[in-house]
Amino acid sequence: MHRLFFVLTSLVLGASPLLAAESRPNILFIFTDDHATHSISAYGSKINQTPNLDRIANEGMLFRNCFCTNSICGPSRAVIQTGKYSHKNGFLMNGNKFDGTQQTFPKLLQAAGYETAVIGKWHLGEHMAPQGYNYSEVLVGQGPYYNPLMLRDVHGSGNQERTKYTGYTTDIITDLALEWLKNSRDDSKPFMLMYQHKAPHREWCPGPKHLTMYDDVEIPEPDNLFDNYDTRGRAAHEQDMTIAKTMTPRDLKLTPPPFLNDEQRAVWNAAYEPKNEVFRNANLEGDDLIRWKYQRYIKDYLRCIASVDDNVGRVLDYLEETGLAKNTVVMYSSDQGFYLGDHGWFDKRFMYEESYRQPLMVRWPEQIKPGSVSDALVSNVDFAETFLDLAGLDIPADMQGYSLVPLLKGETPADWRKAHYYQYYEFLNDRKTPHMVRRHYGVRTDRYKLIHYYNVDEWELYDLEADPREMRNIYAEPQYADIIKQLKQQITDLQGELEVPDDRGSVEADPPCLNPQPKPGRRQKQGAEK
Ligand code: CA
Repeated sequence: MHRLFFVLTSLVLGASPLLAAESRPNILFIFTDDHATHSISAYGSKINQTPNLDRIANEGMLFRNCFCTNSICGPSRAVIQTGKYSHKNGFLMNGNKFDGTQQTFPKLLQAAGYETAVIGKWHLGEHMAPQGYNYSEVLVGQGPYYNPLMLRDVHGSGNQERTKYTGYTTDIITDLALEWLKNSRDDSKPFMLMYQHKAPHREWCPGPKHLTMYDDVEIPEPDNLFDNYDTRGRAAHEQDMTIAKTMTPRDLKLTPPPFLNDEQRAVWNAAYEPKNEVFRNANLEGDDLIRWKYQRYIKDYLRCIASVDDNVGRVLDYLEETGLAKNTVVMYSSDQGFYLGDHGWFDKRFMYEESYRQPLMVRWPEQIKPGSVSDALVSNVDFAETFLDLAGLDIPADMQGYSLVPLLKGETPADWRKAHYYQYYEFLNDRKTPHMVRRHYGVRTDRYKLIHYYNVDEWELYDLEADPREMRNIYAEPQYADIIKQLKQQITDLQGELEVPDDRGSVEADPPCLNPQPKPGRRQKQGAEK
């Protein structure tokens, strides 16, 4: 019907701007928080199944090598809004305020006639409503897993109405996204919807449907759950993000979450109290206690993902039932990866693979061959450019990434990036810095990764082919001297191209070691640096 109308009207009117607009694809950006690729079955997860997320890859393209520029929540979101690295968009670390007056891709899409919306987690501050959206309804800060307060701005007025919902946040965000798709948007325009979950962020509170999922199974442990960081530098030794030491009773569900109402708490306690009783009676110690913590953590994390997967399935079903699927680009990603007990850790921040890699799966029935896989080095700094290109818009010269549209069509440009630059900033030189991960920058190629913890001048080199788990830092091995020289040159070139300011000396002094393993001469060296 639509197609016939298009053909007939084209014959009569020739190329009409209105019809050209109608042929532009819709964009559905599905985003989660801290979802590692090794907990998605399309990526080969050994610990869970995600049948609905897998649909996006099976019917579209899976990117094996998508990497964030700065592995932390707010900064990743700011990169996606702007198509620029943190040092250019001004959002270096959580706690910064996003400058919403700057150029963002939703503003450009909106100006070009797209109906734009963001629903769910925003996490770029409450100092101003999200800019560039016809509709926004967002969590306050991190938002709770149950009974969220949300801020709604209709028509982008800047005035936010507050609504407190009752229920599980992953379900509620999906209900709101479906409501907007069905009833609220102006359907004479193509849409761009950012449908963004809080899950599976810490502290991993499952929804009522998944509280006892995995109760009767043991989840396989990562092979480096008991990593001792031998050959790695101070940063890996001094971090505060181990399953062994950092997790709180609330993380481990030994106390129920504070945001449940009476009815929800009764359901929660019925699920957790019997498990907690067994744990308390077992009086576990040492490695047995770490193993128990890992099981509790990973099961809760996967339960949160199971709910995301179910809810993504509802949205994909809606697109299919209404025929919207055909001309809608569905893109799934997460703000960065996460450690699932790898290196003994949870959380993110480091440039090691598990937290540096992002999931990226894209379905676009009109253009992508089902079951495609791309190994190209891509990044969250490419997302904004991709959205603009999908809409047929020019990419502003000050954006720093590249459109993925050629890759989606099966044509990787010959000059596609061969090395990706990373920089992490959230280390404030006191014990209050969350998780205590030192500032670092680095470069990754298809085979090697070189990392520089620049305020302590320590380097790490990994051969990802020989050592994909990054257990052996080979920086000091003489046979890699030429490779190190090349990688350092790539860092210098990328820092020049991306206009990265020199951040050395940004942290005034070294904090006391949390897990001291002094090496000879180290104190002297620190003193010299001050
Ligand atoms: Ca995150």
